[in-house]
Amino acid sequence: MVGSGPNGLAAAITLAREGRSVLVREAEETIGGGVRSAELTLPGFVHDVCSSIYPFVPGSPFFRELGLEERGLELIQPAGAAAHPFDDGTAVVLERSVEATAAQLGEDERAYRNMVEPIADAWDMLEEAVLAPLVTAPRHPVALARFALSALRSADGLARSAFTAERARALFAGCAAHSIVPLTWRGTAAFGLVLAVSGHRFGWPFARGGAQRLTDALVSHLRSLGGEIEAGAPVRSLAELPRTRAVFCDVTPRGLLRLAADRLPTDYVRRLQRFRHGPGAFKVDYALAGPLPWKAEECARAGTVHLGGTLEELVISEQAPWRGEHAQRPFVLLAQHTLFDPTRAPEGKHTVWAYCHVPHGSARDMTNRIERQIERFAPGFRDLVVGRSVMPPAELELRNENLVGGDINGGAANLRQLLFRPTLKLVPYATPLRGVYLCSSSTPPGGGVHGMCGYLAARAALRHGGSLAKPS
Ligand SMILES: Cc1cc2nc3c(=O)[nH]c(=O)nc-3n(C[C@H](O)[C@H](O)[C@H](O)COP(=O)(O)OP(=O)(O)OC[C@H]3O[C@@H](n4cnc5c(N)ncnc54)[C@H](O)[C@@H]3O)c2cc1C
Repeated sequence: MVGSGPNGLAAAITLAREGRSVLVREAEETIGGGVRSAELTLPGFVHDVCSSIYPFVPGSPFFRELGLEERGLELIQPAGAAAHPFDDGTAVVLERSVEATAAQLGEDERAYRNMVEPIADAWDMLEEAVLAPLVTAPRHPVALARFALSALRSADGLARSAFTAERARALFAGCAAHSIVPLTWRGTAAFGLVLAVSGHRFGWPFARGGAQRLTDALVSHLRSLGGEIEAGAPVRSLAELPRTRAVFCDVTPRGLLRLAADRLPTDYVRRLQRFRHGPGAFKVDYALAGPLPWKAEECARAGTVHLGGTLEELVISEQAPWRGEHAQRPFVLLAQHTLFDPTRAPEGKHTVWAYCHVPHGSARDMTNRIERQIERFAPGFRDLVVGRSVMPPAELELRNENLVGGDINGGAANLRQLLFRPTLKLVPYATPLRGVYLCSSSTPPGGGVHGMCGYLAARAALRHGGSLAKPS
């Protein structure tokens, strides 16, 4: 296994559970890829270096059955999944219950229920199809077709046609903006729907003590099955690996080209070269002397807060990085763990995790614009800052070479790449090289911490890969 992100570890566990011996080699000194934590600001303040909020840990059919809580993982569920504040000092909260969420939306109460409830109710039928390659024949085609009718639309189009007022439109747009794709593009509604439904079905939890605890639990599981892991062990070419039945690459197409370009057929190389990376993330972590002073006190009930105001503003902000521009008022995704997990900071102190989207590879410092957005909804925030860590795209990529140009999703989630990644192929995990598989978020179902790319890659290899057949 090349790489120890959640997908690499998921693939390794899947193979080890089937009795295969597995060695994971990780380039960095710490295990976990996008699921790590560290004292980025001051001693005693634990920050999540990359990912932090995990609806698709309980929402992952693979993670669910691992029993990670028995290996020390404790997921904390704030009362509200996400809050979306407005300039008038109010906020809407994506609550665990559809009803309670809809009840805050005034004239759009019924419209919200009509849109979200059927998908939330049908999620058990849908998840297998949504969290898998499109080429897999769906077991519930009618439910999937009904979902697709809305999901394939643009978030902007769906929000405008389904809702009449600003609060519901903005709440939906905030969920859809996790796509890092302009909200006027087709397919972005899928993110809005899936993230809203995930809040209702699974909540938006995070790991007590830091994201690293999730990685620790996965590592503990893998080791219990006999798997081995080496950190600080970059793989620069497939040629340097010991003889093995199969190699799984938790890397991007670009990473695979670095590992094996000389051995891959030209046509596949060209197709991988056409794979598109999206905008980058500009991330800031804060150590605070006190909790965020929200104007809308409901914001303190949620672990995640979406700062961006109205649908119109979000559309402008998410369009900008695709035009090579930096939004004046960027959409900021913020998490405030210490309100619910005091183990992450010294007594009485707090942490904040925040990022916004910027052009691919941007070197512009967005700290001030992020802070203006936080101040807008939590005036007095700046006076509480006692430490900050700033990570532009280049710094993110330095810590994990999968984060190409700061792209956190392993490749743009535009409609084509949402459906087919990294290329259109019956088994997208297989490469033309016998026994070599891709298993990162550059494969279906894409970005996010769910382990499904790794799990499905390993299952595909176990099923189809003659080289993985059990030795006789
Ligand atoms: C700032 C940020 C915020 C995010 N927030 C969230 C969130 O809140 N919730 C969520 O669900 N997702 C979030 N994500 C996305 C999530 O982290 C990724 O989708 C997920 O980590 C992808 O997992 P992966 O296993 O495919 O790759 P990664 O986690 O990127 O792991 C790949 C690993 O492979 C290693 N590697 C690469 N090349 C080599 C090589 N040649 N040799 C050896 N090792 C190699 C890397 O060092 C890395 O450790 C966020 C990401 C970032 C960066």
